[in-house]
Amino acid sequence: MSAYDFDLFVIGAGSGGVRAARMAAAMGVKVAVTEDRYLGGTCVNVGCVPKKLFVYASHYKEEFNDAAGFGWTVGERSFDWPTLRDRKNDEISRLNGIYRNLLVNSGCKLLEGRGTLVDEHTVAVNGKNYTAERILLATGGWPFVPEIPGKEHIISSNEVFFLESFPKRAVVVGGGYIAVEFAGIFAGLGAETSLIYRGDLFLRGFDRDLREFVAQEVAKKHVDLKFNNNIESIEKQADGSLLLTLTDGSTHETDCVLYATGRVPNVNDLGLEALGVEQQKNGAIIVNDSFQTNVPSVYAIGDVIDRVQLTPVALAEGMALVRHLYQEGNPAVDYDLIPTAVFCQPNIGTVGLSEEQAREQGKDIDVYRSEFRAMKHTMSGSDERTLMKMIVEKSSDKVLGVHMVGPDAGEIIQGLAVALKAGATKAVFDATIGIHPTAAEEFVTMREPLKK
Ligand SMILES: Cc1cc2nc3c(=O)[nH]c(=O)nc-3n(C[C@H](O)[C@H](O)[C@H](O)COP(=O)(O)OP(=O)(O)OC[C@H]3O[C@@H](n4cnc5c(N)ncnc54)[C@H](O)[C@@H]3O)c2cc1C
Repeated sequence: MSAYDFDLFVIGAGSGGVRAARMAAAMGVKVAVTEDRYLGGTCVNVGCVPKKLFVYASHYKEEFNDAAGFGWTVGERSFDWPTLRDRKNDEISRLNGIYRNLLVNSGCKLLEGRGTLVDEHTVAVNGKNYTAERILLATGGWPFVPEIPGKEHIISSNEVFFLESFPKRAVVVGGGYIAVEFAGIFAGLGAETSLIYRGDLFLRGFDRDLREFVAQEVAKKHVDLKFNNNIESIEKQADGSLLLTLTDGSTHETDCVLYATGRVPNVNDLGLEALGVEQQKNGAIIVNDSFQTNVPSVYAIGDVIDRVQLTPVALAEGMALVRHLYQEGNPAVDYDLIPTAVFCQPNIGTVGLSEEQAREQGKDIDVYRSEFRAMKHTMSGSDERTLMKMIVEKSSDKVLGVHMVGPDAGEIIQGLAVALKAGATKAVFDATIGIHPTAAEEFVTMREPLKK
């Protein structure tokens, strides 16, 4: 008989927490999970899933336009925000139910309330203490919004999914992938949209050439890009509109201001300080290679450790930890070659090194690049273009990075990520027969590197 109520107590039923809890419970481990807000966490409720549903919705505007070139007459168009929002809410409720069933059916004890650390083996939820041999912190992240006058008028990604009404005009602030995605969503759904970013170009960390290309494509889709600029203050006017004063001295009127200016670890009132759990300056919980904190019975995974803030990474960390604790597996997660997509319009898909990263690492590289108008748009009339790029190490012929901007880029790059993970060389890409007619076949037919 264990001296504890549970073997493993998980705080946070998001991507990482649910995966770890279910997997451990399936192995016969006695698991409890507590969640204080929404089952399935950020990804399911206010992240990846509803965002992708909105991206689909926002793309119809272009599809209707494209259809005319193929002989279709599309009647009068209108967009009804409450329908989209409420149907999305229904779908998320369905997913919440699935998560509940998954947890309960796997044998986990599901608690609903905020978990707080009491000591190294005790968690309090709703005024009751539960003991556990090990505690896993999987509390995720929270939007960061800077202190500026008029901050109360700002919404974050937590609120944008539930707006009462759809704004006629919207401003998105930030340069990360969430900002670029939401600029596309607002514009696609019909809002007059601006994106304000304090740097000279958004999507820092991605290939520079790709970032410039995306800026050009996003601007074509009527997003007004204001780089090297920021909001100084926001004032609500008598008619309910918002007047923004910008750092370049100009003013801008809008109806909605979404800040997507980063996320911070969600560690408020978790009881870390009292227990002496070590944190980074930004609050991220410090863990070793086995996801163990400096308090040996306390572990942490996912966004709260601030390594790579992506759902599949939180899942991988949760699975690695459970294997390590209960099957004596190796806890290491391979963070190399993580593919990612940005669901801006057109999409970005990328894996591996950018041209700049490869050069910074001192690699002697060939760059293959292809830019074209996708076949569909020869008839749709759209001026959207596609970019594909490949970074190859000259000495080994190894493909170090593959980057794409274009329809379904995420779908295409996921497959190529497997090839890169397997160490594919350019010769292997060249020996692969293409699928015709696709855009993806370009990746196996790029023959001439760029001249320096
Ligand atoms: C708008 C947006 C779009 C995104 N799009 C993508 C995407 O396209 N692809 C992708 O891979 N990733 C995306 N992400 C990131 C992804 O959502 C996160 O990386 C992922 O959810 C992290 O999982 P997690 O388990 O660490 O935390 P979370 O999923 O955030 O789960 C943490 C859970 O813990 C709960 N919690 C916190 N504190 C407590 C407490 N004290 N007691 C009880 N419960 C608590 C929270 O309520 C939450 O449910 C997006 C994020 C956002 C915000």
